[in-house]
Amino acid sequence: MTTMVAERLRPFGTTIFTEMTLLAQKHGAVNLAQGFPDFDGPEFVKQAGVEAIRAGHNQYARMFGLPALNAALARRWRERTGLEVDPDAQITVTSGCTEAIAAAFLGLVNPGDHVILIEPFYDAHRAGVALAGATPRIVTLRPPAPGREEEGFSLDLDELARAFRAEPRPRAIVVNTPHNPTGKVFTREEFETIASLCVERDVLAITDEVYEDLTYDAARPHVHLATLPGMAERTVTLSSLGKGFSLTGWKIGWAIAAPALTKGVRAAHQFLTFATATPLQLGAIAAFEHGSQYLRALCAQFKAQRDELSDALRGLGLRVFASHGTYFVMADFSPIAAKLGVEDDRAFCRVLTERAGVTAIPPSVFYENPAHGRHLVRFAYCKKPETMREAIARLGRLPR
Ligand code: GLN
Repeated sequence: MTTMVAERLRPFGTTIFTEMTLLAQKHGAVNLAQGFPDFDGPEFVKQAGVEAIRAGHNQYARMFGLPALNAALARRWRERTGLEVDPDAQITVTSGCTEAIAAAFLGLVNPGDHVILIEPFYDAHRAGVALAGATPRIVTLRPPAPGREEEGFSLDLDELARAFRAEPRPRAIVVNTPHNPTGKVFTREEFETIASLCVERDVLAITDEVYEDLTYDAARPHVHLATLPGMAERTVTLSSLGKGFSLTGWKIGWAIAAPALTKGVRAAHQFLTFATATPLQLGAIAAFEHGSQYLRALCAQFKAQRDELSDALRGLGLRVFASHGTYFVMADFSPIAAKLGVEDDRAFCRVLTERAGVTAIPPSVFYENPAHGRHLVRFAYCKKPETMREAIARLGRLPR
């Protein structure tokens, strides 16, 4: 049958997260594929959401966010960046960061514009470019040389400069840090280069910072691109509640940007979802007011789980690349590919599910040229300690 899917979305099919979660369910495998916690968010935040429903906060919220949430986000932004923003002119609350990504693309990028994407990219960034009718210009993160896995992926600054300086002038760059799927936290040097190229070529930056609270190494702190010289007026900073507070199903996200850019984001947001769930916005305020202890404990848990999973994968013979943040660690399985009789990442994930009972994500879908990712695999470590223990025990079923 001929497909009915619109041409601009036809290349994307069903997301890899849905596909791999279904595969895990079919085989009763431990799901280290889709990145979501298998435990609940903090009681005090849930309680605030429940109370808001019971108290009758159930009609449309203000289109760009409940005044109290916008104010809380402006306070949080000032504490983190030292930057003052007008909560009513510069902050838009969205239904998760995924909606904010779509709103930023649809509201600020014209058909035919070029947008720099750093690959491997999160699939929604690539789809956002397609929704806007824009053209991606790809810069590829380099895996470290053998023996230097602890350095993690790096950005080739010359390749980046060429992408900025090529014609036509790009409209925007997407910067995702901490980075999904690699776990990379971009370095200050990388940020300085990105910022100076944005200023030189008058390019917008759309940053996806949903893992900003989940970094694990003091030497690689999270940096907000908007704080670099010349960037406050040209950066759209996107983030969300769900990752830091283990409430991915709440779908509370936001965009922070200069008033002129915010107008673009809202022009799209008002027709995508109009407004975001009212009681959950009230719950989010509670998270920001009382959340620091929760965040500290979650980081300590995920850091330990990152280390245990990375050790287990190294023990199997994989090359494991440093993950300084997020829910994820990437590895190169080529050293054991022949032993398992697999040629690419999809086959590896299938064999891992069938023979070990653990499911991961094949990252080739995060590359414009899938061949660049066919030797890689992404694992999530954002699960309960007992889930991680079970997964690690099962990985031991693979031949050594
Ligand atoms: N962000 C999550 C991940 O990378 C999944 C999101 C989704 O399922 N769409 O695994």
